[in-house]
Amino acid sequence: MLYARLTKEWFAKDTSRKVKTALHAKFAEGQRTFAYAPLGYIRHPEIKNTIAVDSETKWIIEKIFDLAVHGAGAAKITKILIAEKVLTAGYLNFIRYGTFANIYAGAPEEKSYAWTIAQVKSILKDETYIGNSIHNRETNISYKNKRRIRKPQEEWFRVENTHEAIISKDVFNQVQEQIAGRRRQMKDATTQIFAGLVRCADCGWSMSFGTNRGNSRPFSYFNCTNYRQLGKNGGRCTAHYVRYDTLYAYVLTRIQYWAGQAELGEEQLLERLLKTGDKGRAAQTKKRAAELAKAEKRKAEVDRLFAKMYEDWSAERITAYNFNMLSQKYQAEQSELIDKIDRIKAELATERQMASDAEKWVALIKQYSHPTELTAELLNTLIEKIVIHEATKDADGLREQEIEIYYRFVGKID
Ligand SMILES: [Zn+2]
Repeated sequence: MLYARLTKEWFAKDTSRKVKTALHAKFAEGQRTFAYAPLGYIRHPEIKNTIAVDSETKWIIEKIFDLAVHGAGAAKITKILIAEKVLTAGYLNFIRYGTFANIYAGAPEEKSYAWTIAQVKSILKDETYIGNSIHNRETNISYKNKRRIRKPQEEWFRVENTHEAIISKDVFNQVQEQIAGRRRQMKDATTQIFAGLVRCADCGWSMSFGTNRGNSRPFSYFNCTNYRQLGKNGGRCTAHYVRYDTLYAYVLTRIQYWAGQAELGEEQLLERLLKTGDKGRAAQTKKRAAELAKAEKRKAEVDRLFAKMYEDWSAERITAYNFNMLSQKYQAEQSELIDKIDRIKAELATERQMASDAEKWVALIKQYSHPTELTAELLNTLIEKIVIHEATKDADGLREQEIEIYYRFVGKID
């Protein structure tokens, strides 16, 4: 595993502090090799490949559906779960089985109840909770690579009453209707999902959202706020005009691309984000560590020589002239070595930071397999900013415009 060493260190350091919950005692070591049942369930203790209701977490599912059936949307439910510090499925798996230590070990407390709207939505749509099993939803792409690929919905098949339900069919169906209704409403209203993310490439101001209704089919767009406020006459910036649907389609394509890469192979993607292959990076780190050890050894030696020389001078075994000469030589080498040691240590720390940042981003994008639409939540989770350049016309008069996406933790990647 790529960063197994790092994560184990964090894990060892932080488990004692983190694992305070009563759940921990009940879940012995041996269970960590199991596949994980959906939240609210555990693997059936006796029947293979079956799940049983988990009395410890069932209430979380009941609460989510109860809120939904009383009219709360996924965003509101998410807020409530966070406010009440309800532990997430990911965190529960971590404290029970030690999974995703790279995300949870040493993470701030908020991470343990960092619910996302996507997670709540997926629970609200999951037929597992009415006792059905959906098969053929995913496929393993190869034996070696255990990543799973989500199959198109037409290829799924459903087996009813395979296990005990947590939610009644009536409640479940009512919630599905509410979700469908809400989706219709969202499509009509122009939701401002890019708020706070889009910036002008030239002046750095935010981009303003507007809708052109002078058309039979109104459309929305962004332009530079600086330009919009002061106009052409202000001369401070140009329009940087980009249509909302153009921006939406481009960003969705890029997110789909990276989500696809994450599904194909997490490790290859990490290597790509870190530019060098695993081998190259490992060799480089090893070389740096060797350099550091050598410099530290030499520094100890110089310190010792210096001390000895001082004794020699005190005992008048060497002259004041020679003492001054040697002392300058040793001091110069000492300060050179100190600089070198600091520099290598900083380089090694940067490498570690980059590796952990890339890991964080990959873990985030893995939450969104096959995204078909953009939401504010998805954009804010993955993206730091989107920079819009002024459009130009190419030789054939076609409009060209550069849009740069800076992702959280990893910056601009192509
Ligand atoms: Zn501007």
